[in-house]
Amino acid sequence: HAKGQEAMRYAFYDPNMGNKADHYLTMETGLRRALGNRELQVLYQPQVDVSSGRILGVEALLRWQHPDRGLIPPMDFIPVAEQTGLIVPISLWLLREACLEVLSWQGPESELRLAVNLSSLHVEQPDFVDGILDVLLETQFPPERLELEITEHVLMRNLDAVIEKLRELSGRGVTFAIDDFGTGYSSLSYLQRLPIHTLKIDQSFTQGLYQTTDEATLVNTIIAMAQGLGLQVVAEGVETGEQLRSLRSMQCHYMQGFLFSIPLVGPETRSLIASWDDQASMVLLSANG
Ligand code: C2E
Ligand code: MG
Ligand code: MG
Ligand code: MG
Repeated sequence: HAKGQEAMRYAFYDPNMGNKADHYLTMETGLRRALGNRELQVLYQPQVDVSSGRILGVEALLRWQHPDRGLIPPMDFIPVAEQTGLIVPISLWLLREACLEVLSWQGPESELRLAVNLSSLHVEQPDFVDGILDVLLETQFPPERLELEITEHVLMRNLDAVIEKLRELSGRGVTFAIDDFGTGYSSLSYLQRLPIHTLKIDQSFTQGLYQTTDEATLVNTIIAMAQGLGLQVVAEGVETGEQLRSLRSMQCHYMQGFLFSIPLVGPETRSLIASWDDQASMVLLSANG
C-alpha cells in the first residue's frame, strides 16, 4: 500500500534518532506509555450537508501529544501501533472516549453522528465485533449513530471474514464507510457484498478537481455509481469554495474539510456545533460557491 509505505519512510527517517531499530523501539515504548499517560488525544472534524447547511456528524481523528517531540500526526505512529498490536487497545480507547464525548455535547435526542477509523489489524482480531459492542453497551452510544470507516486495504486482506464481521455489527445498527475511496486496487464487487452506507471520496480527487478534467470525470463517476447503489457520498479535503461549487454541481452534498473546520479538540467542537447556525452557514456556503 503506497500510502502506508510512504508513512513508514517518514516515520523511520529521523537522523536524530539513530538507526531504524532504535527508533522503532523508542516509538513502541513511547506508545505503550502514551496510552496510560493520557498523551493520546481525539480531535473532531465536522461533516457538513451543504444543501441544508447542517452539521451531520464528526469524524474522530487520533493525535499523539508527545512530551518531547510535540504533536505527532497519526500517519507517523499508526504503522508502529499496527506492527506492535497496540492499535487494538488504542482504537478501543479512542472509540470509548469519542462515544462519551459526543454524548456529552447534546441530549440523547441528538442525531449527531460519529465516524471512527479502523485499521485492518483490529478488524482481523477474533474478538473485534465483541470489543465494539462492549464499548457501545458501556457508553450507551446509539449504534445507528456510529459509522466505522475502513479502507479498501482492510477488505483486500480477508474479504469473507470481514464481510461476516461487518454484517454482524450492521445487524446491530452500526454503519460503515469506505475511506479514501478510489485509492485502493481491489475489485468493486465488494460494494454489493458488504453492508456499506457511505463512500468517502479521497481528498486527492477533491483537490485535483480544478487541475485536470480527468479528476472531475472520476469524481462524477464515483458519485453516479454511489447513487446507483444507494450509497451516501462524502467528499473529503474540501478546502475552497471552488471545490465546494464543483462538488455540489455533481450532486455531492456531504463534505468535510478545512473550508468548514480543521479537526478540533472536544470542547472546541462542542462550541462550534452549539454556535453553528444552519441558516447562516447556508448564506456563507452559497457566498463561497
Ligand atoms: P482519514 O481518515 O482519511 O482522515 C482525513 C485526514 O485528512 C485527516 O488527517 C484530516 O485532518 C485531514 N483533512 C481534513 N480536511 C482536510 C483538508 O481540507 N485538507 C487537507 N489537506 N487535509 C484535510 P489526519 O488526522 O492526519 O489523519 C490521517 C489519517 O490517519 C486518517 O485519514 C486515517 O487514515 C488515519 N487515522 C486517524 N485517526 C485514526 C484512528 O483513530 N485510527 C486509525 N486506524 N487511523 C486513524
Ligand atoms: Mg477517515
Ligand atoms: Mg480519507
Ligand atoms: Mg486515510
